[in-house]
Amino acid sequence: MLGVVGGTPERPTLVYLSDPVPVTPELLATLGEVPAADALRIAAPCRESACSHFRDAQCSLITKIVRALPEAEPDASVPACHLRDKCRWWQQEKVAACRRCPVITTDQVYATELQWWIANPANSATDFDPRDFDPGDFVAAGADPDHGG
Ligand code: SF4
Repeated sequence: MLGVVGGTPERPTLVYLSDPVPVTPELLATLGEVPAADALRIAAPCRESACSHFRDAQCSLITKIVRALPEAEPDASVPACHLRDKCRWWQQEKVAACRRCPVITTDQVYATELQWWIANPANSATDFDPRDFDPGDFVAAGADPDHGG
């Protein structure tokens, strides 16, 4: 397990675990009726070509995230994350991935058009145009409205 989802339903923010915690039936039982994807970020080995986001030997999902999403907290240091030496997102995008990672959740209760666009494997980072989206989508994703998006 990478971390626990905190923040608000509108803007979830991951609380990273300093050490890996295995996802066990006992752990999942503590969630009760809450779906695991709403409450946890669970790391798993990259499935590479078995995943619809894998293109040209890279994860197209993190490429789009870095291109389209603002940094979660521009002035903050990168999360203390135990996964870094095994993380494909880090291998591809380095600090830019880690600066956006805290606002990525498996399930987004209040997903914006921008987030749906990013999650759609049919879309490519090279097609991203911020003018296609409501400025409020970037604010919802963490951009400071007083400092542009
Ligand atoms: S992108 Fe960075 S913070 Fe997120 S899982 Fe990978 S190494 Fe950890």
